[in-house]
Amino acid sequence: MRRPSDNAALAYALERANELGLPCVVYESLRPDYPFASDRFHTFVLEGARDMATGLEARGVTHAFFLPKTRDEARGMVAKMMARAAMVVSDDYPTFIIAAHNAHSAARAACAYIVVDDCAGVPMALFPKEEYGARTIRPKIHKVKDAWLLPLHEPKPKIDPLTPKRLALPFDGVDFEKADVAKLVAACEIDHTVQAVAELPGGAVAANKRLDAFLAHKLTGYAVDRNEPTRDATSHLSPYLHFGMVSARRVALAARAWADERNAADVAEPFLEQLLVRRGLAYNFAARNPRHTTYDAIPAWAKATLDEHRRDPREVTVTLAQLTDARSPDEVWNAAQLELRTRGVVHNYMRMLWGKLPLTWMKEPRDVFDALVHLNDRFALDGRDPNTYASIAWCFGIHDRPWPERAIFGKIRCMTSRSARSKLDLVGYLAEARSWRDDL
Ligand SMILES: Cc1cc2nc3c(=O)[nH]c(=O)nc-3n(C[C@H](O)[C@H](O)[C@H](O)COP(=O)(O)OP(=O)(O)OC[C@H]3O[C@@H](n4cnc5c(N)ncnc54)[C@H](O)[C@@H]3O)c2cc1C
Repeated sequence: MRRPSDNAALAYALERANELGLPCVVYESLRPDYPFASDRFHTFVLEGARDMATGLEARGVTHAFFLPKTRDEARGMVAKMMARAAMVVSDDYPTFIIAAHNAHSAARAACAYIVVDDCAGVPMALFPKEEYGARTIRPKIHKVKDAWLLPLHEPKPKIDPLTPKRLALPFDGVDFEKADVAKLVAACEIDHTVQAVAELPGGAVAANKRLDAFLAHKLTGYAVDRNEPTRDATSHLSPYLHFGMVSARRVALAARAWADERNAADVAEPFLEQLLVRRGLAYNFAARNPRHTTYDAIPAWAKATLDEHRRDPREVTVTLAQLTDARSPDEVWNAAQLELRTRGVVHNYMRMLWGKLPLTWMKEPRDVFDALVHLNDRFALDGRDPNTYASIAWCFGIHDRPWPERAIFGKIRCMTSRSARSKLDLVGYLAEARSWRDDL
């Protein structure tokens, strides 16, 4: 998790280092060859690393950041670093490349390799089976949350941090006091066509500012306004939660403290439902369903009904390239795609519509699923997350129920841009989207 405090893996590593009488070194690396590596993600992570460097220095913990520019340069560094460790502590994260990376590294480590389960609000390990839906996991989360949503004990290191010379790193670490993030990103062999999002700077400092602003100005109206894309009523914390720049624990504790001060538990509850229950359900899905990134993860009833409607006529067909360029036949869908491409995030209601409509333009539901995963993973700052795959799978029936049968959608919950236009005030959103096209 990319935060210098309130970080359970770091707290655990510090405790063990203190017991062993050894220094604790936080090693971060950002390779150029992870799927969809781009200016957008590299910038966000490097901005976050600056906060890591400052925050860890203040705590007296050594920080080393390796930024290989090419795939060749990147090869073998984890093994070299592990060879010098008495113990390795990592985060338990159920998807993208992290789960496989942990398994691979643990198999090769000559020392203990520990993963800490601290990404989901309450630990994923408490729910060993794949949950059927929010209604099955909700009571379980509510039962344990008070035992887990507690401020973290922050151990102090007993051993002084190592100087860069004593550390004798097998690479030139990034010096974040002098680093020019844009120049570093430009030097990496990554996709430079997916640009950084200036209004969403990465890092724990920006995450905590966003949390404070949400509590001060928006939580009061969250329950009523969260579905309106033009009201800016949500926290915008998902990219920061994804990269671990703020913990779900800290966000939940802050929302609860806000509610306690105002005797307003019912006002905070809808937000905590999304943060702990819906997000927790997604983490459970990713941790317990090995096929969670694929169409094969959707329930049998959903597959059967989509299959029955595969031959239903589509008025228009679109390709992945047209979807990528926001050139579908639907203006509202295009607006959501433009938001994703230029801002790296999409409002939740628009995102549901974004996930549903392509079924009406592509024959194979499996192709639609893959296209959505591709677009979200490529452009979303909060993508490549358990929420990504659970939410896309939700558009195809997971954690949902059969609905009255319709053309193309079968018994999958249907959404149309016509109903969105009638329910929501989209005039401002669509006007803004026109300016996003100019930013492409
Ligand atoms: C097709 C589709 C794709 C999605 N892809 C992603 C994704 O890649 N990454 C991602 O984090 N979310 C994804 N979501 C879920 C949701 O849209 C975002 O979490 C939310 O819009 C983030 O905005 P926010 O931080 O302002 O949320 P807020 O409303 O302020 O909520 C706070 C936090 O609660 C969690 N949360 C909110 N809504 C949901 C939800 N419906 N399901 C699970 N957790 C939720 C998020 O962590 C969010 O940051 C997707 C939804 C759909 C329908």
